[in-house]
Amino acid sequence: MTTPRDNLIGKRIAVLDKGWIELQDVMGDDLAIVNAARTSFLGESKGDERDKKLLFYLLQHRHTTPFEMVEFKFRCRGPLVTFWQWVRHRTWNMNAQSGRYTAFEENDFYIPAVWRLQSSDNKQASEGELSGPEAEALTAKLLAHYEQSFALYQQALDAGVARELARMFLPGFAVYYTWVVKVDAHNLMHFLRLRMAPDAQYEIRVYAQAIYEHFFKPALPWTAAAFERFIMPELGPIKQ
Ligand SMILES: Cc1cc2nc3c(=O)[nH]c(=O)nc-3n(C[C@H](O)[C@H](O)[C@H](O)COP(=O)(O)OP(=O)(O)OC[C@H]3O[C@@H](n4cnc5c(N)ncnc54)[C@H](O)[C@@H]3O)c2cc1C
Repeated sequence: MTTPRDNLIGKRIAVLDKGWIELQDVMGDDLAIVNAARTSFLGESKGDERDKKLLFYLLQHRHTTPFEMVEFKFRCRGPLVTFWQWVRHRTWNMNAQSGRYTAFEENDFYIPAVWRLQSSDNKQASEGELSGPEAEALTAKLLAHYEQSFALYQQALDAGVARELARMFLPGFAVYYTWVVKVDAHNLMHFLRLRMAPDAQYEIRVYAQAIYEHFFKPALPWTAAAFERFIMPELGPIKQ
């Protein structure tokens, strides 16, 4: 019999211009959280209605350890700017591609779909977009910059320079990376709360939203409903 979990594993969602996120594995479900909580008094499932009520109670009162019984493993591809913000989350287990072992490819750079403008009242935020010929000219300059950077990288490799040094020619924040991460549902909710928030940078927000919509919600429908009731309101309106 196929379970919802079987349909999720291996599913890949496209993110940004060349990125993606794929669920490699998931361990546990809503019931695993409920059963972990009931272990405190050696109990087990008491039927859907009472189980769901208990799960909501746990999240509302931040009784968080039962949520650590569920684990997700993702494979991700994204620009370094996304990776750099992601690695700050110390509660995730992580392995990443190495530019020392693998040479970068010519189209391995992120091209933003729009040029967001700097917010006037928040140093960390953007608001509005640059449009028209000015935006098009900037994109053309970015592409030329990538082309030149890659040509210099290639020249250095051709001269026998080590990959670990040749990569100094590459446009750092824009380089696409691949990484594998594992996290439990409690710490994933912490990540989602921070990275789906309107003040999170778009280039990580879209990954957090993809995780939430395509993997977290279908894998843990009760937990997602509780998350939407007790934690999402703290986020404010979700920016698209
Ligand atoms: C909008 C936004 C802007 C940001 N701007 C900046 C910035 O300008 N500069 C910058 O450096 N960072 C910045 N960050 C990163 C931020 O400071 C955190 O490093 C990141 O969000 C990870 O959060 P965390 O530490 O809570 O998560 P995790 O590392 O996943 O930790 C989860 C929780 O576990 C606990 N924990 C984990 N490790 C420890 C530890 N060693 N000791 C004590 N408790 C621990 C804490 O309670 C923590 O909240 C920004 C983040 C966001 C969302």
